[in-house]
Amino acid sequence: MPEHVIRTYKVPVPRGLYPLCSELNKTAARIYNKTMSLVRKIKRKKNFWLSPNTAQKYILRWASSINIHTHSKQAMVQQYFQALYSYFKASKENPDLKPPYKKKNFMPFIWKETAIKLLPDGTLRLSLGSAQKPILIPTRLPANTKIRQVKLVYEDGKYYLHLGIEVKNKRKSNQAGIMSVDLGILRPITCFDGSEVISYHGGVLNSTIRYRNKKLAEFQRALSRCKKDSRRYRKLLKAKRRMLQRAGNKIRDILHKITSNFIGLCLQKEIGTIVIGDVTNIRENAKGNDNFNQKLHQWLYRKTIEMITYKAELFGIEVKMVSEAYTSKECPVCGSRNHPNGRNYRCGECGFSYHRDGVGAINIWRRYLGRKSQVVAVLAPARGVRFNPHLCGHGAVSAP
Ligand SMILES: [Zn+2]
Repeated sequence: MPEHVIRTYKVPVPRGLYPLCSELNKTAARIYNKTMSLVRKIKRKKNFWLSPNTAQKYILRWASSINIHTHSKQAMVQQYFQALYSYFKASKENPDLKPPYKKKNFMPFIWKETAIKLLPDGTLRLSLGSAQKPILIPTRLPANTKIRQVKLVYEDGKYYLHLGIEVKNKRKSNQAGIMSVDLGILRPITCFDGSEVISYHGGVLNSTIRYRNKKLAEFQRALSRCKKDSRRYRKLLKAKRRMLQRAGNKIRDILHKITSNFIGLCLQKEIGTIVIGDVTNIRENAKGNDNFNQKLHQWLYRKTIEMITYKAELFGIEVKMVSEAYTSKECPVCGSRNHPNGRNYRCGECGFSYHRDGVGAINIWRRYLGRKSQVVAVLAPARGVRFNPHLCGHGAVSAP
């Protein structure tokens, strides 16, 4: 675990500065676009990718008349190379991908550490180079706060500063609680802490997935009907990609909200270890066996595990994986295997009956503790958490 972690805090920008903000984000986009066209031109004409250092030298010369802090200019060059490198990585798996090519009208303006100063009264001073007055924004941050980076972000018609603040990583949480997690599609997260099962409803998530699949099938049908490489074909393909991207963004957003809420729950319950049933290889009772859905589900599981892991790490909560083979079939009381029927689990041997999703989570919990068979005391009925767009997180992104 790293010794320090960067947490993001949001600070609203006073309205009076909006025109300036819009200018800055336009400037950031200009430098990004210039970097992109330079690198792509060299690639086209000389067939190699320019190194970040060379590109930076060139861009700094080109941008010498733009009055902002030099490190802010460099940050925009770095933004482009980050996008380029993630393309290199992704194109290994998907050779059809294109390197970043879209010109931006606006991009988040970035201040590096050297351009940021926090005055003793909490005022944030952001340098705009020597020829321009700095931006001053009141905050309530203590004077010794270490701000590593500031990003000017436009969200829902408002400007915010995203402050990347360095905080000491809490060494391993000394909380003893153990929370098990059963991942699913109908219920993205079902968890158990030894006494209570809590289950997150996947209503909005599932309707988004259904919508995505329905649209995708429509596109595939339409594509199969027209000639390859015809204009219409290319148009459809483009529309299909756009739809997939949008649906993906929405799904990611929902997962973020659910996982943040889940971490909040773990903090509340003083959990020190999260144990996740490993679904990356197997999936019992996978419904809709087509390859297509399977892939999407695997992606969902992977994303959920990723999000839980990095958010838990911020709070020093450990995350472990255990095999989840048979966890949905085994009876938590007597250990015999039963086929769950519908939404309810009922053991044919001992008569134990419970909500089916809860059984998986209870068994993952037992497996981690190494109790092969242990009588579960009177269980509280499973509690559900419904998704809503304002599902509250754990405050990893919030005004200080
Ligand atoms: Zn039983």
